[in-house]
Amino acid sequence: MKRRDFFKASALAGVSTVCGSQLAMAQEQTTGGNGMPKLTPPEKPAELNLCLQWWGIPGGEVKQKLDFLEANGFGAVEIPSGDWPIKNGEALVDALKGRKLFLATACGPSDFSYAEPEKREAEVQKFLPIIEALGKMKSVGLIICPARGQLSEPGRLSGKELRKDFVENTGKRLAQHAAKYGTSIVLEPLRRNETPFLRQVADAARMAADIGPGATVMGDFWHMGLEETSFMGAFICAGKLLTHVHIAGLKERIIPGIHPEADQYVDGFKGLKLIGYRGAVSFEGGWPKNPVDRKKDLPEEAKTKLILNMVKLLREQWAMA
Ligand code: MG
Repeated sequence: MKRRDFFKASALAGVSTVCGSQLAMAQEQTTGGNGMPKLTPPEKPAELNLCLQWWGIPGGEVKQKLDFLEANGFGAVEIPSGDWPIKNGEALVDALKGRKLFLATACGPSDFSYAEPEKREAEVQKFLPIIEALGKMKSVGLIICPARGQLSEPGRLSGKELRKDFVENTGKRLAQHAAKYGTSIVLEPLRRNETPFLRQVADAARMAADIGPGATVMGDFWHMGLEETSFMGAFICAGKLLTHVHIAGLKERIIPGIHPEADQYVDGFKGLKLIGYRGAVSFEGGWPKNPVDRKKDLPEEAKTKLILNMVKLLREQWAMA
């Protein structure tokens, strides 16, 4: 079997485990003589755009942070949610002018599972101006995790009720607002101990498709490590709806490269290549303990070294995928 055929076959094996409907669609597109389903090749080849979250970028001032990213081959920057985009949007857009960096997502907490409609409405109202600011900044979108904690807690919708309300009401209105301002909401599946509701990328992709324009999806390698049977299959299920990726070590949620035997992303990167992914791959995670004084944070020079080590590891694995 040629290398290319192997990838096609393995990709579709991944699809069949998590995404039957996409497999059926792919099967309709069969053109090969061997009866194997064929994926549509991406219009443009995938691109690895490494990214850091704002507070994790070395340097104090905006300019220093962006200089660091550019000098070390990063392709994007991720910012905090809340009122950060509203307060800092214009200054950041100015600082990004003429640079080879794009503005990825904004990341912060959200919860749409309250049984009381007033509480859900308050959550929608809180995010509308943030989405507008992100649209004006030409950001990829606002990361949304629809529910946290336990749905069995009093005062929460059931899973079915929440899905219906999120797809037809809260999530839909946020997505429509996002589409109006040229950005999106980006659904993030979490681990089972963090959310009872949205845990798999294929589920998020179905939900985003049901919501319609302005709704997209992301995958976070850390959460996916527990919840997905196949990184590659999960990314293929998301397809064109995938607009963001988070990455961390797969043994510990810290910067990749500390446990290199566990930090294997080639399978996931194959999925990203197969769908022609050109969004950000953004580090979200902590740092190893300070070996000198475990109560103290790692010094910035040590963190910078680990960031550069991560860049090398991820570039090597992208080349292998
Ligand atoms: Mg994440």
